[in-house]
Amino acid sequence: MLRFAWCPTPTMFALRYRAAKTLLTLSQLAIRKPARTLVVLAGAMAYALVCIGLAAASEGPEFEPALYSLLAFWGLGLAAFMALDKQDGRFDTGSLTFAKSCWANVGVVASALFVPDELRLLLLVVPLLGILHAALHLAKRQVGYLTLITWFAYLLVQPLLYSGSGPLAGAELPLTLGFTAMLAVMFFMAGEVTALRLAFQRRNDRLNAALQQLADLAMRDELTGLYNRRYIMEVLNRQKALGDRGHVGFTLCYCDLDHFKRVNDRFGHQQGDRVLQAFARCAEQVVRSVDFVARFGGEEFLLVLVDADKDAAQRVADRLCASVRDLDVIGNDSNPRQSVSIGIAEFRPGESVEDVIQRADRALYRAKSSGRDRIVQG
Ligand code: GH3
Ligand code: MG
Ligand code: MG
Repeated sequence: MLRFAWCPTPTMFALRYRAAKTLLTLSQLAIRKPARTLVVLAGAMAYALVCIGLAAASEGPEFEPALYSLLAFWGLGLAAFMALDKQDGRFDTGSLTFAKSCWANVGVVASALFVPDELRLLLLVVPLLGILHAALHLAKRQVGYLTLITWFAYLLVQPLLYSGSGPLAGAELPLTLGFTAMLAVMFFMAGEVTALRLAFQRRNDRLNAALQQLADLAMRDELTGLYNRRYIMEVLNRQKALGDRGHVGFTLCYCDLDHFKRVNDRFGHQQGDRVLQAFARCAEQVVRSVDFVARFGGEEFLLVLVDADKDAAQRVADRLCASVRDLDVIGNDSNPRQSVSIGIAEFRPGESVEDVIQRADRALYRAKSSGRDRIVQG
């Protein structure tokens, strides 16, 4: 059996495999953020209250109706985006998050402009956080568009509200320049966050692939890709538990290639390997998707036919014998064709897995001693 330097025993292998899998699941849970909707809506509400408070304290009542309408419209839009986000799979999450971020930032920038100069910068920190948040979910290009849209929103709304004093008059010019510089810095930082996130994602993908490979190695036979002996014994114990409780039973077909040693002796081990692989494909083709095919050892294979009696197993075994006779892996018609002998045993509730395998093995022995290339019921 293949082992790794860091997994010298099967128990350590299983322990480390489980530990790695648990770490992966925890890291996935940590980035999923189940209460995101609540957090976003609570944040929007807090922002709206602060904005109303600051505007009311400084500007007087003439601004209030427009600000209230703007905040209400913005809040409803955000709630609609959050509702759309819940419709799993119906929308492309990347574009939806981009649209939502743009909506959030444009609304914040527009309402912040209702607040006078000295307090406005305080509120304008919020769209900067929006850009940083977008970096956790969006591609760098989308974060760039979001930054530009946020900036344009500031430049476009400002003259609408402060037309009397000119678009960039007085304190407006340094404020605009300051906000522009902050946006540029935030875009740079967002780029770093995106790069970090992508690197983490790539590592996660590699870890997932490695775990999948380890899982495959633990249950598959390397040469044929079939289940290995260890895994099929687990399957059999599971099927036995079901059979004992009166649920589905199963029937075994114990297969052994005839005179396989001769194939190796005459054509070499490599050709022998190709015959084993070809047999594996034949066996997979004759069973149903619910059945299991395993390489039990050397040139011996086990079919576990789920919810099948010995008559159904006989039909599967007949098909397998016929397709093995048709195999021409080595491509020399003058040679005797490959054949297989099969012993069948139907599971009897209460008997052990070892017993049902032994009955199939005894039937296989009778098939061998009575001439090979045949099927015997155990
Ligand atoms: P019988 O009809 O009685 O089963 O005869 P046999 O020659 O098939 O049986 P035997 O047990 O004498 O030989 C089995 C052979 O299978 C011997 C061994 O070298 C070969 N074998 C086992 N594993 C592999 C493998 O992975 N690759 C190859 N090429 N041959 C293998
Ligand atoms: Mg054998
Ligand atoms: Mg054999």
